[in-house]
Amino acid sequence: MTPAPGIRVGLAVGAMAPNAGGVEALLVTDPAGAQLAVIPAGETWRLAASRAGLAAISPAGASSPAGERLVLAAAASGDPVRINGRPYRGLVEVLRDSLGLTLVNRLGLEEYLQGVISAEMGRRSMEDREALRAQAVVSRTYAMRNMRRWSKQGFDLYGTVSDQVYGGVSTETPEGNEAVSATRGRILTHGGAPIDAFFYSTCGGRTAGGTEVFRAADRIYLRSVSDVGLDGAAYCSLSPRYRWREEWTGEGLRTILQRTLPAATGTPVARVREVSDVRVIYRTGSGRVGQLGIGLRESEVRVEGPAVRGVLRSPSGDMLRSNAFELTVTGAGRQVTRLVAEGGGAGHGVGFCQWGGGGALARGARLSAHPRGVLSGCDAGAAVLIRGSAPVGARPASPARRKRRAHGGLSPAFGREKRARQASPLRSGREHDRQEHQRAA
Ligand SMILES: [Zn+2]
Repeated sequence: MTPAPGIRVGLAVGAMAPNAGGVEALLVTDPAGAQLAVIPAGETWRLAASRAGLAAISPAGASSPAGERLVLAAAASGDPVRINGRPYRGLVEVLRDSLGLTLVNRLGLEEYLQGVISAEMGRRSMEDREALRAQAVVSRTYAMRNMRRWSKQGFDLYGTVSDQVYGGVSTETPEGNEAVSATRGRILTHGGAPIDAFFYSTCGGRTAGGTEVFRAADRIYLRSVSDVGLDGAAYCSLSPRYRWREEWTGEGLRTILQRTLPAATGTPVARVREVSDVRVIYRTGSGRVGQLGIGLRESEVRVEGPAVRGVLRSPSGDMLRSNAFELTVTGAGRQVTRLVAEGGGAGHGVGFCQWGGGGALARGARLSAHPRGVLSGCDAGAAVLIRGSAPVGARPASPARRKRRAHGGLSPAFGREKRARQASPLRSGREHDRQEHQRAA
């Protein structure tokens, strides 16, 4: 049997005084396996860097011999390695970095996914089994695709939103673990390689094309597609973030923009004294805000799509949930006294819609029922719909299909694209979706 592939997860970079142990006994070794210390069960030791190297220090202040790199493993097989009170499967390596210590969790890919699925999806019931399985395939694909992304720093992926949120054993759930084992080893591929498996919380009714959000994400499988079922309701309408509303007073808006606009656009803070207008300059193909104009009396500052959510933050300072919103401005042209954003969805919108995946599958969606959907090759009836993706891991495109793709939405779809550009998905989504289904039927 070949060993399962492994992964190195960056738990922390620049950590100052992490601790290890607390419950289970741990062995501290150098990378060659030579034992440096034993942390007894129930004791918590500090990990520290000195000129001599890295060492584990007991509560009484006794230091292990120093090493260039430390490896922590459970003394009893099956026990986790506890770091800062959190249990992790596999081993934990301690490396020095320019600020402090880097902590790396080395474990099997499937074990890693167990710590990702429920951290990413939240606690879900068994009814959401298919959505969890879909997330497992997407997360596994992401990991395979991005393996060695941070190898200069000594690991493969961050255990945070920089890559995928990973919480170790304490974030595992029975449902999440079931989803990982039911899809074991399955990934989404295109042209024989893992796809760029983008995902996010909620699309709000229509996913975004790759290049609408990420300049480099020009992939045939990252197209804008409808996330609306045949009954006219969006699959992700179950999401608590399906529709949202933010409201700013004139004063509140100015305060936020004084904080965010200088950093994002280089506008001097002194110029953000009076906000005279906020308007959508254009929308992207899926109807998301592609550029936002902020009037500052005699001039207008333009904010590019990817920066919009960080600039137009909520009154409490959070990132705006998505770029799919409409604005109602009071006092436009003079001084904005009130701004309301009514929006849909959460996240960038490219690729897999986490809430939509569950909604579609809960309603018994199958590839055949969803003309734009994608079925990955999952066993045991675990149909995985990755909307926003072209068929992947499927048969290679026939010449006819290739030709259609080469048109890339020009010709028959062109008129529709143009209309979508002018209206947000909130207003026009359903209408377009119905047209699409009629066309497909
Ligand atoms: Zn959706």
